[in-house]
Amino acid sequence: MKKSIFTIPWRMITTILILTLTISFQLKAQTLTKENIQKALDDAYNKFKDLQEGKNADYIKELANVDPNIFGIALVTTDGQVYTKGDITSMVSIQSVSKVFTMAKDIEDLGPQAIQDKIGVDATGMRFNSIVAVELQKGKEINPLVNPGAIAASSLMAGADSAAKWKNILDIHSAFAGRQLSLNWPVYVSEAGDNLRNQAIAHLLYAYGRMYFDPVQATDIYTKQCAINVNAQDLAEMAATLANGGVNPVTKKKVVSPQTVMYTLPVMATAGLYDDSGIWLFNSGIPAKSGVGGGLLAVCPGKFGIAVVSPPLDAAGNSVKAQKVIQYVIQQLGVNPYLVQPKQ
Ligand code: GLU
Repeated sequence: MKKSIFTIPWRMITTILILTLTISFQLKAQTLTKENIQKALDDAYNKFKDLQEGKNADYIKELANVDPNIFGIALVTTDGQVYTKGDITSMVSIQSVSKVFTMAKDIEDLGPQAIQDKIGVDATGMRFNSIVAVELQKGKEINPLVNPGAIAASSLMAGADSAAKWKNILDIHSAFAGRQLSLNWPVYVSEAGDNLRNQAIAHLLYAYGRMYFDPVQATDIYTKQCAINVNAQDLAEMAATLANGGVNPVTKKKVVSPQTVMYTLPVMATAGLYDDSGIWLFNSGIPAKSGVGGGLLAVCPGKFGIAVVSPPLDAAGNSVKAQKVIQYVIQQLGVNPYLVQPKQ
């Protein structure tokens, strides 16, 4: 049959139309509009609010008494807009999430090479409070985001004595959060009376010459650091400060340099969620840090920080709801940095 002269232009027009629609849909899916962000948070909250999996940590006795129904989501953009859903005022102890900010301050003060040489930055591949990890490596490569490296990081904190080091730790956490934070005394007292394992870790590191202050006092400073009180909005603002190259996007104050953030985020990406760090990165693509108090924060570099507080944890020690919510929001907003639309 003879081809009509109109067949080809119509096909072309249809193809161009479909391509345009597809591309504009993809761009729309990645646009961080106010409506998209709030809808992603609202939908995530409703989707997971009735989930009953997980259990509060109880190896620190006071954590077992925290209300397991606390459930709050906050997202702070790098231009300082705050989005929230649920309970963003209830306070929980920051626990391991603090390890990020003490490490960042040490990197800021001493440089990345000193942290690599004096502590190590590789994931240990063992549990967060592993003594075997210290013994096997003779105190080397102990990672600032698990207990041995974190206690070493607290011992390295600037300050001539214990009080000065603690003040610097509380100040840097407050600067990241954009307000004066304080200590949760019941959690601190509960853990301080029961932290022989962390003291053993600190002493073993001391024996290997990898503890940079008195081990008893360093463990005490670290225990206080873990008991800093935060809510979901504090954690999101802390994450947003990392997302914004070290300047708090709400207070507009410089907290650390962009270079410090550049060295902090990879350690979070490789060791932020205990033994499930690889599973987390596989499902989200972004650096994050969890704590046994039920907080989890994640950083979308250049875009926003997001955090969830929900105390029930899974077997690896990560908040069940927090992981699901953040992964859902990242997916809904299309901001996994490994998701790239091919050039046509
Ligand atoms: N203070 C806790 C400990 O040292 C922190 C643990 C965590 O959140 O991973 O056991």
